[in-house]
Amino acid sequence: MARKFFVGGNWKCNGTAEEVKKIVNTLNEAQVPSQDVVEVVVSPPYVFLPLVKSTLRPDFHVAAQNCWVKKGGAYTGEVSAEMLVNLDIPWVILGHSERRAILNETNEFVGDKVAYALAQGLKVIACVGETLEQREAGSTMDVVAAQTKAIADRVSDWTNVVIAYEPVWAIGTGKVASPAQAQEVHDELRKWLAKNVNADVAATTRIIYGGSVNGGNCKELGGQADVDGFLVGGASLKPEFIDIIKAAE
Ligand code: PGA
Repeated sequence: MARKFFVGGNWKCNGTAEEVKKIVNTLNEAQVPSQDVVEVVVSPPYVFLPLVKSTLRPDFHVAAQNCWVKKGGAYTGEVSAEMLVNLDIPWVILGHSERRAILNETNEFVGDKVAYALAQGLKVIACVGETLEQREAGSTMDVVAAQTKAIADRVSDWTNVVIAYEPVWAIGTGKVASPAQAQEVHDELRKWLAKNVNADVAATTRIIYGGSVNGGNCKELGGQADVDGFLVGGASLKPEFIDIIKAAE
């Protein structure tokens, strides 16, 4: 089965209601390849999810940027997977490096979140990636494998999982991974899945790249055999995001 190209826009903690409406208008007017060619998912902050969901074109979908690790209840400040399902939000981003680093989310905690969100019926963009220090120490694949293993230990059905390989040193820095660097890790990660999960999951699971993707570098990155799309931060807030979606063609 061919892997459909996937372009996610991670808006992070950005935007006012006015700015969000502007971005949605730009997306709604864009001429992009059809849903058969590319799956487009944008991820606004929680508070704007209903607004975006109700105004965004129906061929684009929405994702939350996080959700609570288990059933909701006495967890002040958290948003549960059940609530996202209740609002018909189909996707959630989990394990983003900003949450791993700033909010101390461990591999196991992220694995638990992925398993719980999937069990509630959400689709998950699960983020993995090494820091510069880890890359320079030659441990990129060990780090990425450990992050993926914590998910694999808890998940048996990978149908609704997209893995986002996001080297931390490339996120928000303008220092994009070279197409060869991205391809190398994606290829290794796919081999890891083949060995530790199974050949079918390795062949069908989309592995997307994130970290300083822009309108200029997306085409070559997206042309790599094991790069199945992108998770875009900064550039997803700009009209340039349309060019990145078009890299699917
Ligand atoms: P960036 O962020 O595109 O701004 O580097 C990517 C991400 O954090 O998902």
